[in-house]
Amino acid sequence: MASDPRLVLLGRQGAGKGTQSTRLAAHYGVIHVSTGDMFRTQATQGTAFGLEAKRYMDSGDLVPDEIVVGVIEECMVPGGPLGGGFVLDGFPRTVHQARELDRVISGAPLHLVVDLDVPREIVFDRIAGRRVCQDCHRVYHENLPPQHGWVCDTCGGTVRQRDDDTDDAVERRLELYERETVPIVDYYRARGLLTVIDGVGEGDEVFDRLLKVCAEQLR
Ligand code: ADP
Repeated sequence: MASDPRLVLLGRQGAGKGTQSTRLAAHYGVIHVSTGDMFRTQATQGTAFGLEAKRYMDSGDLVPDEIVVGVIEECMVPGGPLGGGFVLDGFPRTVHQARELDRVISGAPLHLVVDLDVPREIVFDRIAGRRVCQDCHRVYHENLPPQHGWVCDTCGGTVRQRDDDTDDAVERRLELYERETVPIVDYYRARGLLTVIDGVGEGDEVFDRLLKVCAEQLR
């Protein structure tokens, strides 16, 4: 078993990447990196960078590659937050980003890429009911809310719908996923790194599938 696994989780919006990658990172004691969470935190803080990213996010567009790659590059410097093991969630999202990732981590390549497969018809419903903690980014659903009102069970933050979970933005994000992100599946398959797992089912059930695959592939 690789001691500090370096993993990427791919999957459509609403496939459960955020929830599963948080759990996976905690399981292995490595860092969970979500580019979407990073951008949302910056936007909430009102930094110039965050506000620029928010313009793209709210309309469902991708943040331009050069901005995203720059952010990842800063995280990957030796001794930086991504110097060791990690679970990447939401990056890479274009073939260009995947190539850039290979360049940035050339000394410590990826161990495994998991594609969390959930059909398009199912993710629409999941996203419509999705509610997220603004502070720690924990994901809830309107049918599975926090215990006390819309106050996060983990950190006490406010739980609400994301600004980009509108019908139009979701439609656009799913379209961009098919066009820009699906080609990455072949990119990693060709490198022998890809495993597809079924992302339909209860969270615990999907997590067990994920752990099983990791245990098999990370030997
Ligand atoms: P989702 O997977 O539901 O779209 P994320 O939180 O991963 O949610 O991303 C939200 C938004 O952040 C994206 O729609 C996009 O605008 C921006 N974003 C996140 N990661 C990237 C990336 N790697 N490349 C470009 N844009 C990104």
